[in-house]
This record gives sequence, C-alpha cells and structure tokens, in this order.
Amino acid sequence: MTPARAAIIPVTPFQQNCTLLWCEDTGRGAVVDPGGDLDRIAQAIADMQVTVEKILLTHGHVDHTAGAEELRERLGVPIEGPHHADLFLLEHLVETARDYGMAGARNVVPDRWLVDGDTVTVGDMSLDILHCPGHSPGSVVYVNRANRFALVGDVLFRGSIGRTDLTGGNHQQLLDSIATKLLPLGDEFGFICGHGPSSNIGDERAGNPYLQGMVS
Ligand SMILES: [Zn+2]
Ligand SMILES: [Zn+2]
Repeated sequence: MTPARAAIIPVTPFQQNCTLLWCEDTGRGAVVDPGGDLDRIAQAIADMQVTVEKILLTHGHVDHTAGAEELRERLGVPIEGPHHADLFLLEHLVETARDYGMAGARNVVPDRWLVDGDTVTVGDMSLDILHCPGHSPGSVVYVNRANRFALVGDVLFRGSIGRTDLTGGNHQQLLDSIATKLLPLGDEFGFICGHGPSSNIGDERAGNPYLQGMVS
C-alpha cells in the first residue's frame, strides 16, 4: 500500500477545503479544488515539499475551481475532472465570481473529463472515479481503495449533504448518489469534504440526519 498524505488549505470566502494530496513514496501529488488564494496553496506545496503533477476538480462550482486555470499556468500541469456535465459552470466562472465579489477568477476547461469507472493516478496512488450528480450534474468523487478514503467535494458533509438549490442541483438525485455510490464503500471509509471537518461513512450512516433510513 502506498501511504497517502493530505493537507487541507481552506480557500476563498467560502472556506472551501482545497486539498493537497500526495503519495509519500514518490513525493508526487495533486492539488484538489484550487478555488483561489493561490499563494497559500503554493506555500503549502513548498512546506510539504510535494511535486505537484496534476490538478483535480470535484465539480464546477466557483469556490472549487476559480483558481484552477491560473494554477495550471503557474505549475504547467494538467487538470483532470470533473464530469463534462459541469462544463456550463466552468465556462462562466468569471461572471459567477463577480456576482460573489471574488477576485482573480478565470474560466477553465479541463484537460481530461472524467466518467464513472475512470481511474486517476497521483504518484503511485490510484483513485477510482464515482460520478455522483445531485449537488451539481458533473460532481465526481475520488476514491482511494488501498487507503480507504475518498475526496467527496460537496456531495456529503459531516452531518449534512450538499445544497441542491443551485442550477443543475437535484435533491433526490443527490440522495441516490450517496445511497448507491458512497454508502457501499463501507463504514471504514474516511472522507475529506469540500467544506468543514472530515468524517467517515459509518459515522454519517449512523448520525447524518439526511441519511437516516437510507438503504444502500
Ligand atoms: Zn459546490
Ligand atoms: Zn463548495
């Protein structure tokens, strides 16, 4: 098993959990959801001495993606994810950021769109892709089975789930994604989410009010 390490860097006025994920064997890693505050992300990369080889996006919302284009340019690395269904969000990041008063946003088109069943590598680690629509149509979850953890973006939170009132959101679809894709991972699976503290599937299955009575 390749040891995985992660450092969480809250960015943007939305306190979005940009995550620096890396493989300890190789020192190679990925920046997941660089929504902004790129100097703080750069500082974390330097502090952890990680060689960033790619940028990963969980979904197209501005707090997760507005810094991706500039970071791609600075680091010279490709962007992978999310699912193509979030293109309509990524094409309008500049306008959306302006509405929220966020500076420095750029629109972005990834180098690789992801679909359910795809695999992404980070160093020697392998991440399986689960397409989990509902919070946004193109939300994906990155699953590292060897280390039993996932990066779930805004699909699931500790004690809550993603909002579904934004364009393309669908509450029932989100519940279905959680029931059919995330709960089957098993109670031992830990996850890092897009906002707030990390958790694990077992704790959420037991205590998350949105998941009560859910059959997976
Ligand atoms: Zn979101
Ligand atoms: Zn978010």
